[in-house]
Amino acid sequence: MKILVTGAAGYIGSHFVKKALDRYPTVKICAVDDLREGHNQAVPDSERVTFHNLAMDNEAALDPVLAREKPVAVVHFAANAYVGESQEKPFKYFDNNVTGSLILFKLLAKYGVNKVIFSSSCTTYGNPQYVPIDENHPQNPINVYGTTKLMIEKALHGLHLASGWSYVSLRYFNAAGADDEGAIGESHDPETHLIPLVLQAALGRREAISIYGNDYDTEDGTCIRDYVHVYDLAEAHCLALDKLLSLKEGESTFDAINLGTSKGASVEEVIKTCEKVSGRSIKRKVTERRAGDPAKLVADYTRAKEILGWEPKYDLERIIETAWAWESSRQY
Ligand code: UDP
Repeated sequence: MKILVTGAAGYIGSHFVKKALDRYPTVKICAVDDLREGHNQAVPDSERVTFHNLAMDNEAALDPVLAREKPVAVVHFAANAYVGESQEKPFKYFDNNVTGSLILFKLLAKYGVNKVIFSSSCTTYGNPQYVPIDENHPQNPINVYGTTKLMIEKALHGLHLASGWSYVSLRYFNAAGADDEGAIGESHDPETHLIPLVLQAALGRREAISIYGNDYDTEDGTCIRDYVHVYDLAEAHCLALDKLLSLKEGESTFDAINLGTSKGASVEEVIKTCEKVSGRSIKRKVTERRAGDPAKLVADYTRAKEILGWEPKYDLERIIETAWAWESSRQY
């Protein structure tokens, strides 16, 4: 059996591929990534992985790959994922995230592949009306990135209604951490995420970490987010995939599931935990608030537990330990 993985050389996609190879000893993976943001070295060198360097919107190149490889399902990670950039270059995000996904779906339909695990995001909820956020929270994204993720969730639902596709949209909160063995990890250019930036400050690669506002309505005044380990995310993808692969002929299903830990951590708490794990003191400077940052985003993951039997295994300190191991000796 073969699974198509798009964005396989990206941060979360590569951790999924590594985990899936361990978890499914006979499954083969057709890995696709255009390497514009992904890293070649992040894709495991395995005879069970075939790697294709191409973009989702390259219909002419993707078509023969699907014809030849005959995947039974797709785990669709490929996307641009910078909120700030999506506001500056909306059409890049509409083209790559939306049009690219639709081209992929059209080809999947052509080859009878109708099972999709989709990387969605808590960004689709917009400003929270309540926390913890469950899946029934209204989806009103406040930026282009979140809008593109919601558009694809809707497209998948349309395909479920029209053609009986089965899909699970997994709405990630703050993905963080790295491989336990330090083989793969987070590497964005530019890096905008809190934990790698704090650890780079600990290593002296940055002078200080900027705290984007300490006057929020939270206990210590800094923003609260729900950090979830990338292997916990990968495990949830496997559980969702198991569910779709166990469907009987003619059955179809759909779901949207939050992936977070339900435990929020403030920016200050993250920095303190990074100091503890690294054994170094980290210089902070408080700067202005970043536009569009809600004070608190925390998941209610009850549905993931009920539907998938999923529980996050890594707490904040473990997450940061794995990120520290990676950041201290990263390969790419
Ligand atoms: N943040 C910060 N300084 C930084 C980067 C991020 O204070 O240099 C804060 C940001 O305002 C947010 C939290 O850290 O409250 C997590 O931000 P990140 O960009 O990692 O993820 P996001 O929540 O935006 O998806």
